[in-house]
Amino acid sequence: DRIAAVDGDGGVHAFLHVATDAALASAALVDDSLAAGSAPASPLAGVPLALKDVFTTSDMPTTAGSRILEGWRPPYDATVTGRLRGAGVTILGKTNMDEFAMGSSTEYSAYGVTRNPWDASRVPGGSGGGSAAALAAFEAPLAIGTDTGGSIRQPAAFTGTVGVKPTYGGVSRYGLIACASSLDQGGPCARTVLDAALLHEVIGGHDPLDSTSIDAPVPSVVAAARQGADGDLSGLRVGVVRELTGEGYQPGVQASFDAALRQLEKLGAEVVEVSCPHFEYGLAAYYLILPSEVSSNLARFDAMRYGLRVSEGASAEAVMAATREAGFGPEVKRRIILGTYALSSGYYDAYYGQAQKVRTLIARDFTAAFGQADVLVSPTTPTTAFPIGDKVDDPLAMYLNDLATIPTNLAGTAAMSVPSGLSDGLPVGLQIMAPALGEAVMYRAAAAYE
Ligand code: GLN
Repeated sequence: DRIAAVDGDGGVHAFLHVATDAALASAALVDDSLAAGSAPASPLAGVPLALKDVFTTSDMPTTAGSRILEGWRPPYDATVTGRLRGAGVTILGKTNMDEFAMGSSTEYSAYGVTRNPWDASRVPGGSGGGSAAALAAFEAPLAIGTDTGGSIRQPAAFTGTVGVKPTYGGVSRYGLIACASSLDQGGPCARTVLDAALLHEVIGGHDPLDSTSIDAPVPSVVAAARQGADGDLSGLRVGVVRELTGEGYQPGVQASFDAALRQLEKLGAEVVEVSCPHFEYGLAAYYLILPSEVSSNLARFDAMRYGLRVSEGASAEAVMAATREAGFGPEVKRRIILGTYALSSGYYDAYYGQAQKVRTLIARDFTAAFGQADVLVSPTTPTTAFPIGDKVDDPLAMYLNDLATIPTNLAGTAAMSVPSGLSDGLPVGLQIMAPALGEAVMYRAAAAYE
């Protein structure tokens, strides 16, 4: 009923597909088992969840926000989908996103924009704007996103919600439609840190179907979030990344960050300054590595295997070209072209090879910084939510949204965004970063700060 009231024409438009019957059936199953006296499958049994439309679902369409997958019904569930079902979570439907997770505003969806519930004239962030907006509009208490360069954390910051990018390999990518395989990571979105932790433990952990999945137990984030709720951070060293503050950050965002540091000190943390000198090259390296992987990953959309097919009857090559021309939006095409160029003979060493070296330097910056601090902090985004239409024709301005979030993806480490008050009536996010598999300390700090 809530979705029907707020998500329709001219409304939030967080959902691309609402699975009313399946959701009611799933909830009824939980009711039945409770009535029969059996223990619930998990603490989240029966809790409704909004799933980003980039995870395959055998009983719902999966579009990744693209025309090229319009009407596609996957033959199988992603591991994340399967684990949600196994825990008895009620999947309400699939949420809107920038096409193939490329974008920072959800305006690059082929299925219309999602509006920010705080101000309908503004974007909810992206690419996972649908998941974040569903939380902020009270359409769902839990959601799943994916974060390749910030797509969980930036929408969380723009909507005043909690979003976690787990350690690379911490959550299975099996059945997650690839954007950039070495950067993509699914993760939990919620309205509180403890809710995110409960969801994290349901979806995380080793999966033999994903060759990059880490063969280690999920960090104990629920216990950490409960511990953090005591509000005692004494002994915790919090590192402020010098390169991720000051110039380029909106005054209101910077003020909220400064207040957050004082709050962390009040909770007993020791705040120190650290330097990560290579972070300033993160954006440039990311926008070579990501398009390179995109140009390879999206080659599978060849009009033969999935979804859209136009110019039936012409030669295979003509069908492929016509389908990709009609099925991909401008941002996706831009990145395929950039990536194909960066990987081509004669340019590979100068662009892709250099970017990979920068990636290593950024990972080393993190290692050094985590020698001086248990967690690192920064504003999640340089600005609060911007007006719809403001940056849609200016790719560079759009890319700058991810200044503070991208280093984490390049290094494969963990990070999250927690609400950090308002600036001019719009939410601001505090980013907390932790070493690989260091989620517990990150959740503890976040729960104490929340
Ligand atoms: N906004 C970034 C991009 O456009 C991040 C996307 C993401 O994390 N999926 O690539």
